[in-house]
Amino acid sequence: MLNIKAKFLFVLFSVIQIVAFSSTLNMKDIDTLKITNKIIPESIAKEITTALSHYPELKDTPIEFRFKEKIKKSFMQAQPKFSGIFKNKKNRSYFVMISESFNIENESFSISEVPSEVLVGWIGHELGHIMDYQERSGFNLIQFGIGYLTSHRFIKEAERAADTFAVSHGMGKYILATKDFILNHAHLSKVYKDRIRKLYLSPEEILLLVEELKD
Ligand SMILES: [Zn+2]
Repeated sequence: MLNIKAKFLFVLFSVIQIVAFSSTLNMKDIDTLKITNKIIPESIAKEITTALSHYPELKDTPIEFRFKEKIKKSFMQAQPKFSGIFKNKKNRSYFVMISESFNIENESFSISEVPSEVLVGWIGHELGHIMDYQERSGFNLIQFGIGYLTSHRFIKEAERAADTFAVSHGMGKYILATKDFILNHAHLSKVYKDRIRKLYLSPEEILLLVEELKD
């Protein structure tokens, strides 16, 4: 009897220790995650910091994450701030616009209905765009903007580059969650899903890339 009681106390004590340890670990993670030059809405801070932790290169890059009522054809959108477009590449700053609700044709759902890991994947993809923008000159960014608006081939290249940056930064699992959400779960129209299939990396291509990066 006493033995069982002792065992129980031991297990209980271990559990308390693990809980205490993991909570101090979390606190430490938050403290050591140095997020400089970022403006982050609190309601989505957890997802943004998770995505940012995969991009140490963007540690000092000024990025403002901002909710917007509606974004045409998209849920999130990364873009350079126009005022700094011709600045030195290092001093350029960026926006990531996030739509409060996602409206495609007659379907609409709010950001609170989107699972956390899907949001992390989506933000990771946008940060992939910023990685791509960082390498471009101001003139090239303007060409890029025009190309994006006028050419499907251009969009495809840009979207696949963003996905590839995210996967090569260890975000394969999140990017897959995002694809899965769009292609299998969300009540999105066939037109939108076909657009995603055509322009972005497919789940199969992502898995292949994850495997390649392992070697
Ligand atoms: Zn994109």
